[in-house]
Amino acid sequence: MSAEVETPSTGRTEIVHKNITAKDGSRLNCQFYSRIGACRHGEKCSRNHIKPTSSNVIILPNMYQNPKLNKNDTHVDERQIQKTFDHFYEDVFIKLASLGQVVDIAVCENENNHLNGNVYVSYHSREEASKAAQALNQEWYNGKPIHCDLSPVDKFDDATCRAYEDSNCSRGDICNFMHLRHPSQQLEESLQNSQKKSIILKRLAKESNRPSAAANATTSTSAAPVSVGDTNAVRETSTIQDISNLFA
Ligand SMILES: [Zn+2]
Ligand SMILES: [Zn+2]
Repeated sequence: MSAEVETPSTGRTEIVHKNITAKDGSRLNCQFYSRIGACRHGEKCSRNHIKPTSSNVIILPNMYQNPKLNKNDTHVDERQIQKTFDHFYEDVFIKLASLGQVVDIAVCENENNHLNGNVYVSYHSREEASKAAQALNQEWYNGKPIHCDLSPVDKFDDATCRAYEDSNCSRGDICNFMHLRHPSQQLEESLQNSQKKSIILKRLAKESNRPSAAANATTSTSAAPVSVGDTNAVRETSTIQDISNLFA
């Protein structure tokens, strides 16, 4: 059995494992793995980690390099960390969106081994998530081969440490919920707008059965026959420009 206990430090329900086996003697499932997508005991966990065969969500473990964990750099500049993180987020979003429609990305900056740098990506469909996982496992990032899996995490909200969102999680590296680093709001909006625009342009090109339609429309957004909402924001963001053509 497992129990859920309200803890003042996280301001939310904590998962506490009490028994390892069910009444019939079979091993129980690990609630940390099924809810957070990662467990500090890893493969040695006494409970079952049931890997999904189908999911909207993929996980790229330990992908984000948290500068706070660099022991050689004792000076931590929050603005520089955010700037570096935004570059990382933009790079990763563009790559992930080229493989399917990205609904949400969660990046952990927990200072423990099992959650540190984990990137969770929610795709629009299970098929897109599956194809993305297969494609990413053939690629490299930052000089290392990418390892990617389908994740059992259903809702990022349920896995997120709310106390950390309020900058007051007292559990530090023993906290088992996601400590998220968020991209700047303008960057996130611009990336999502560019993705939406790219999807509409591709749909238009497909419907008109003219492969050149997307290219023509991309060169002149004002001529696009569909309002894509905030396209001005995309054009005016200097670090991003019009990146819709990058979503292959
Ligand atoms: Zn476990
Ligand atoms: Zn926490």
